[in-house]
Amino acid sequence: MPELPEVETVMRGLAKVLDGQQIHQAAVNREGLRWAFPPGLAQRLTGARVSGFRRRAKYMLMRLEGGDSVLIHLGMSGRMIITPAGMNTPPPKHEHLVMVTGGGQRVGFVDPRRFGAVDLMRTEEEDRHKLLAGLGPEPLDEAFDAKVLGAALAGKKTPIKAALLDQRIVAGLGNIYVSEALFRAGISPTRLAGAISGPGVKRLVEAIKEVLNQAINHGGSTLRDYVQADGEIGGFQDLFLVYDREGEPCPRCGAKSSISRIVQAGRSTFFCARCQK
Ligand SMILES: [Zn+2]
Repeated sequence: MPELPEVETVMRGLAKVLDGQQIHQAAVNREGLRWAFPPGLAQRLTGARVSGFRRRAKYMLMRLEGGDSVLIHLGMSGRMIITPAGMNTPPPKHEHLVMVTGGGQRVGFVDPRRFGAVDLMRTEEEDRHKLLAGLGPEPLDEAFDAKVLGAALAGKKTPIKAALLDQRIVAGLGNIYVSEALFRAGISPTRLAGAISGPGVKRLVEAIKEVLNQAINHGGSTLRDYVQADGEIGGFQDLFLVYDREGEPCPRCGAKSSISRIVQAGRSTFFCARCQK
């Protein structure tokens, strides 16, 4: 499932094509995805000019000049496919929403498994939307610091891995970047969240920001269905230090220990039992 860096990358790709453009034509090809499309979606999009983009956690918000915002969630297998003007190719399979710019570029939301979502709201009400209202801080915001994370973790008796996956504590992280951040911070995924020291929380905040920024710089991680909006695949999976590297030597302590995999709350966690305390 795409996490923050993948969603950020897709959004930047969309912004390149759509920002400032008028949507000449829009159409939906089914009633909805995870939920029904909002009534009148195609009509509201048709003729509207895109005024900007915002990412919140794993959600993209495309803002329109009339004051509407379109929320796009890629879900498990969603991708945005851009077809340049003048290409006479048939529409991609499983294309559920399509927008064509005045310049003839075609942007389709393609989602074979249909866990994605599209919704419409007024821009000033974005943060009150049911999917966004309960989200914790954005990890790349300056306001997300050791004080904020420390306060959110205080007294928590859940493992730190689970706490960091909790979108109310910090927004946008998933299984990959939590494993990578905990390794970089030298913190065991099984440590109780409330028991991490002040310096440990500080290292964790730095590690989260570092791994997310590196991943964005590499266009995100490609495991299964993820592609950038321009069709390129992300490259950060080649730079994973622990994720999906069970049995390989630890990149920090080398041959002295290999990467372990445990299952926490039904999901794999990768870590070095020697380096992470
Ligand atoms: Zn190690």
